[in-house]
Amino acid sequence: MATRILSAYIHFPFCDVKCAYCDFFSIAKRHYPTDFEDTYLNQIKQDLAKKIPLVQNGETLRTVFFGGGTPSKASGSFFSKSLALLKNSGIPIHRNLEITAEGNPESLTYEKLCQMREAGVNRISIGIQSFQENVLKYLGRLYHPKQYKEVIQFARKAGFTNISADLIYGVPSQKWQQVQDDLNRLIDEGVVHISAYALTKEAGTKLAMQMDLGQKKSISAYRQAFQQEKIEAYLIQNGFYRYEVSNYAKPGYDCMHNVAVWKGRKYIGLGVAAHSFLHNVRILNPKSLKQYAVRKFTTIPSQKEDYLIGISRLAKPQSFQSLLKFFSKEEVHRLKDTLVSFCPEFIKVNSYFFQLTPKGLLFSDSILDRLANAISEIE
Ligand code: SF4
Repeated sequence: MATRILSAYIHFPFCDVKCAYCDFFSIAKRHYPTDFEDTYLNQIKQDLAKKIPLVQNGETLRTVFFGGGTPSKASGSFFSKSLALLKNSGIPIHRNLEITAEGNPESLTYEKLCQMREAGVNRISIGIQSFQENVLKYLGRLYHPKQYKEVIQFARKAGFTNISADLIYGVPSQKWQQVQDDLNRLIDEGVVHISAYALTKEAGTKLAMQMDLGQKKSISAYRQAFQQEKIEAYLIQNGFYRYEVSNYAKPGYDCMHNVAVWKGRKYIGLGVAAHSFLHNVRILNPKSLKQYAVRKFTTIPSQKEDYLIGISRLAKPQSFQSLLKFFSKEEVHRLKDTLVSFCPEFIKVNSYFFQLTPKGLLFSDSILDRLANAISEIE
């Protein structure tokens, strides 16, 4: 039987402060109860036990992703104990398991990075966002210049070679020169993967409220489109390639975990607010520590739209044949007709393959909407 890829996501909910633009489930707390991790690990163990029956023969764990929140606020043993839970679960483990952990410069000390590496984490994703104080201030993020300066060197010294950094662009009053300075620092320090996200106004966040009240400048779509094009050109010039709307990598360093999720592969989500996609169902863990403790999960059948996300986000050519794994022949015909209806400046299509161009990636949300409409008309 062919090996099928399975992924696992583990959510660590605490952050030092709640950033103004953030709509992830996170709890701002510099110090959390000392017994929290043991209690939480026990809950994760029970969560995993409930989901294991949904893993099928032939599925192998290929990636693990510690996301948050701020996973680097957890102790080193949180990583080793969580990984031990997965390794002892009976799920076959791929020999080159990709294990990513997110972290912020404030808590990614050299000691913490060594502990994470020792636990088995082999890919580190650092939430830099920007090296510019005015930009971080606008975003409501903490900024410790010394830690920002040292964190990538510390990661290398701790033994990480697969280092990713997150950047935010399109922040009001952020100049292209500042974005370029940020990129240069990451390139010079040997980062092999960069996630460049356009700032978005997420409903319910502090930033959205500040914008609505006129306390903070609004986002300019023109600035964002301009900077996105410049970022792509600059990173390509420096040996990266774009493999997704917001993600750039040196060859061989794509984030396997995220690609698997975008391609509609199965994943087990563990921890408060985590989602799972297993056996054609989505399982939503509650967004509350109290409810997570009593495992109040919600299960919903997967929707066709779940499989459209990768089509509208990934930059590599995709075959129509591969869509038959998720869609009927009639649906693939509809999807093909819709993709053909876009101007070739946005999507290149031939009889077998289609590929979003850099311009197409700028409009991935609209492409997703059009594809979703095409499918819904059949039902
Ligand atoms: S550190 Fe990350 S997860 Fe935490 S509040 Fe800020 S953006 Fe959200």
